[in-house]
Amino acid sequence: MIVDVLVVGAGLAGLHTARLLAQRGHDVLLVDRRPALTGAIRTTGIFVRRTLDDFPLPPECLGPPIRRVVLYPPSLRNPVTLVSARDEYRVGDMAPLYAAAARTAADAGVRIALGTRYTGRRADTFQLASRDGGPTRVRARFVVGADGARSHVARDLALSRNHHLLVGAEEVFTIPRSERPPAFHCVLDPTLAPGYLAWVVNDGRHAHVGVGGYANRFPGGLRRALERFGAAAPGLPGVDRPEQVERRGGPIPVGGLLRRISCADGLLVGDAAGAVSPLTAGGLDPCLRLSELAVAVLDDALRSGRPDALAHYDGAALRARFRGRLMLRRGLARVRTPTAATTAFTLLRTPLGRAAARRILFG
Ligand SMILES: Cc1cc2nc3c(=O)[nH]c(=O)nc-3n(C[C@H](O)[C@H](O)[C@H](O)COP(=O)(O)OP(=O)(O)OC[C@H]3O[C@@H](n4cnc5c(N)ncnc54)[C@H](O)[C@@H]3O)c2cc1C
Repeated sequence: MIVDVLVVGAGLAGLHTARLLAQRGHDVLLVDRRPALTGAIRTTGIFVRRTLDDFPLPPECLGPPIRRVVLYPPSLRNPVTLVSARDEYRVGDMAPLYAAAARTAADAGVRIALGTRYTGRRADTFQLASRDGGPTRVRARFVVGADGARSHVARDLALSRNHHLLVGAEEVFTIPRSERPPAFHCVLDPTLAPGYLAWVVNDGRHAHVGVGGYANRFPGGLRRALERFGAAAPGLPGVDRPEQVERRGGPIPVGGLLRRISCADGLLVGDAAGAVSPLTAGGLDPCLRLSELAVAVLDDALRSGRPDALAHYDGAALRARFRGRLMLRRGLARVRTPTAATTAFTLLRTPLGRAAARRILFG
């Protein structure tokens, strides 16, 4: 098979990139090792206001708007509540959302091969392992690595790789509807979530209960931390965890955008490029925005026949925007004990601390 662009990975970054390229008239093959995009989901799916304003996500795949964030110290006592005057977040119903994005991509002309793993590259030929007789060798002018935090495409193109990673895990379940306002609860406790947060998102339809942090710092491991948190998680009064829950989890790159994310043969988008906020670990907005830039340079290179156009896709130059958040990430990583977390919380209770938190959470 011969195509203009092979996109590896049908997460949000790969789906968006593939669709936009096809809409510009290019021949695109999108492959993913998952047999169905509705399974093995790796994200909570919180979309922030900027994304909701700028990208037309299908409204039927979004939960109710959230304006309220409640921040807790390790004791869970006297939390700080921040309420925005605007709708700040909506949680995506990710299975139908991925399915809708795949339909739109296919309608634009993208060929999609699921159950198809990218296994390597020899010159301009890419090797695929397909479960059901799909293509096994593809020649492509360019390859796009949209294959997540541990990208094989990045390795094969000798591009930068993610080394600074958190891991996150959560349980998702349906909850009875209630009159309480939808809220996002965040707990700062390094014994549950070393270097990051434990969270409960309750939007009145679903609960997401999760923990994230540095893999080697969870005192009894990630799974144990999630069990401990789940047993006493705030924000779910009167709600019992059902027997059956959906489990999600995966690595989260937080080292900022990688420096070398393109070469003459292709480029990286989304988590593969490190396009995740180092502080909040949010990657859905950056993956959509970076994909648009990737499409612009690929379109230019395909039309002009000049692969050097990809040099404009320069992570080192774009990385400067992440500087402030990288500094704050280093600060959060230093909160290693409950005492330090409680002290940090004392600052958060001051007007200046609250203003800073509002800027990060609603900015
Ligand atoms: C637990 C958790 C919760 C999160 N919550 C949020 C949140 O609420 N809001 C937010 O903004 N961000 C969140 N993030 C981060 C966000 O989910 C990611 O940044 C974003 O989904 C990245 O999208 P992506 O398309 O780059 O990668 P992915 O969604 O990881 O997609 C990569 C795809 O590549 C495929 N793939 C990998 N290797 C191969 C291969 N060799 N061959 C074929 N296919 C391959 C995978 O199957 C996968 O479908 C969270 C992350 C985690 C782990």
